[in-house]
Formats: sequence, structure tokens, C-alpha cells
Amino acid sequence: MHDFLLAKEIIDELKIIAQEKKLENIRSVNIEIGTIALAHDGFEEHTEDISLENLQFGLESIAKNTGFEGVKFNIKKIAGENWRITDVEV
Ligand SMILES: [Zn+2]
Repeated sequence: MHDFLLAKEIIDELKIIAQEKKLENIRSVNIEIGTIALAHDGFEEHTEDISLENLQFGLESIAKNTGFEGVKFNIKKIAGENWRITDVEV
């Protein structure tokens, strides 16, 4: 569940970055993923293991429908909390 919710958040953030920096034809995006606490479906904020495979799949599916088709997502698991986009290459 968190995989897919996270994929949506990441694509939203990528949209903002692309707009702010006026980036077109993004080739790859580097993302660091820590432990992700989320509240959803009526549950309070909690953590879950993120499947990198599902996250990759989620990112690619959403990217297809949001103008980021063909973008390569490089996901790195890190210790610590939260996630961040560390690099966007055009
Ligand atoms: Zn959950």
C-alpha cells in the first residue's frame, strides 16, 4: 500500500521540480527511500516495509499517464526516515 501512495507522492514532487526548473525530457531521477510513515484508509500514521519492486512498478505506471514516460527511476534504500529526490537528469 505504501509503495503505491509513495509513488504518487514522488511523481507529484517530480512535477513540481520539473515546473520550477523548467525541465523537459527528463531521462532519469534518483530517489532515496528511508522508512515511510503514512496515514491512510482510516489508520493512524504507521510504517510499513516498502517493496522497491512495487515502488518501481508504481512509479512507471503513474509516469506513463503524467508525461514522464520513459523516465528511469533509480531507487536507493537508505537508513533513516522519509524519502527525497536527490537528482534529476535531463
Ligand atoms: Zn500502511
